[in-house]
Amino acid sequence: MTINHDKYPIPTQLFIGGKLCDSVSPERYSIYNPVDDSLVTDQIQYAVAEDVDRAVASAQAALQSESWGGLSAPERGRKLMRAAAILAENKDEIAWLDRITMGKPVQAGLGEIQMAVELLEYYAGWADKHAGETYPADHGYLKIVQHEPFGVCAGILPWNGPIGMIAFKLSPALATGNVMILKPSEKSPLSALRVAALLSDVLPPGVLQVLPGAGATGDILARHPQIRKISFTGSGITGKKIQKASAESNLKRVTLELGGKTPAGVFDDCNFENALEWATNSITMNSGQVCVAASRLYVQESIAERFLAAFVEKMKAAAAAMGDPNDAKTMYGPLADKAQLSRVQGMFTQDGGKTQILTGGQRRGDEGCFFEPTVLYNPDPDAQLYKNEIFGPVACVRTFKDEEDFLRMANDSEYGLMAAVFTKDLGRAMRVSARLESGSVGVNCTTAINWQTPFGGSKQSGIGRELGKWGLQSYTEPKTILIKGFLRGAGKREVVALAIPFPHTPYQL
Ligand code: NAD
Repeated sequence: MTINHDKYPIPTQLFIGGKLCDSVSPERYSIYNPVDDSLVTDQIQYAVAEDVDRAVASAQAALQSESWGGLSAPERGRKLMRAAAILAENKDEIAWLDRITMGKPVQAGLGEIQMAVELLEYYAGWADKHAGETYPADHGYLKIVQHEPFGVCAGILPWNGPIGMIAFKLSPALATGNVMILKPSEKSPLSALRVAALLSDVLPPGVLQVLPGAGATGDILARHPQIRKISFTGSGITGKKIQKASAESNLKRVTLELGGKTPAGVFDDCNFENALEWATNSITMNSGQVCVAASRLYVQESIAERFLAAFVEKMKAAAAAMGDPNDAKTMYGPLADKAQLSRVQGMFTQDGGKTQILTGGQRRGDEGCFFEPTVLYNPDPDAQLYKNEIFGPVACVRTFKDEEDFLRMANDSEYGLMAAVFTKDLGRAMRVSARLESGSVGVNCTTAINWQTPFGGSKQSGIGRELGKWGLQSYTEPKTILIKGFLRGAGKREVVALAIPFPHTPYQL
């Protein structure tokens, strides 16, 4: 397949101070299309330290400006609503840019943009509703808690959901009055650059900036003394480096959304077809490159044979539905690039022998980065394929006897992003949900995320939460203001007991 570069221009520069501009560095990088390994561009620029400094200066100017820092919350909300509309108006172009860099099929790409639009709209609504708190003056002080933005924030993004991840970071950050510097993945920087250019119609210079680059650029951001907050989505290994860089620099606040190995328990009283549908869609969606993909499937012994046979057939059907992401009917495309393909293949070379491969287990064809939907049965508990995130369409299946048996295996992991339980017994659903060690639990569903509720990982799947009101909290810091002189007679004796003995404690009033 040849890329039609005339369809839309390919952005290759940095986006700083409201416009596309060149990096200080003369180096240029290449991106290849995972469908057929063809060159998309060899002109991608990476941001270096001086570029990051320029972006931070522009971000600080935006915070001081009347056109951003001086806006009221409803005005910020209206800007986010307009940003959502601009994304929707340009969805075909944005989806195309992600398609040629990481192979996301047309429908999946458009679906992700729709999610980004809804997320921007959701946080547009929050902009003037993120209230503070007051506590009565019964200790001699009126106590006010207000939520203040950090100021200059950075978002470091993975490649598997480029536009969705932009919305995850950008929407709550701007709703609460921050400014944002995004570093997209080196594998998929195009959509972020285009979004920034499109949104410059509504966002003043410095409010949204995009610095493409690899790990080195991310590290500069993580260590920058004027950046106060980093929100990172990516692998656990990188997340730990970012946490360390933050600690070694200015102790910037860090939110980490890391990998997962979602366990899904299929009990014999479940709706069989529903469980089958979710199990298949969850691990084949985005070719398995989803942090919440149900990659560990546990099936109760009494239905295991029947379920496994049906699951293998569904996965074979998914393999048949793989194809050119440009075809609107294609459901599953390639893995994101050669590096991701060799990573998945490498895990099979390393310990494919420690499991039964019921279907798949190899690259499809010899062009592009396609990997067959795969079912592994009874993998060795020590196999990397079973223990670690594969980030490909590979499901590990084991059987269990009862609730305890399922919970023991499900929780025997350092990951804790999402888990699922399929059963018609509400009591069991609640018992098991309570004991699953994960940030989210799906009952009779999995791989589902909702704007209204917090999303994030327990254990080594992350720190902090995104979405809902928790997303607002992750971009603000509470400030307490104590106003002295509101003492009421009735509270006076209590105050004497509680007061801290400083010169101006309430009992001296
Ligand atoms: P990655 O960790 O390799 O890279 C993520 C980003 O970090 C990239 O932009 C990369 O350039 C940057 N980076 C690399 N080294 C860095 C460093 N030392 N300092 C700062 N930045 C650095 O992850 P990936 O391969 O791009 O994405 C896949 C991973 O993301 C998977 O583990 C997946 O589970 C995870 N993910 C998690 C969520 C979630 O919400 N929990 C969502 C999507 C993806």
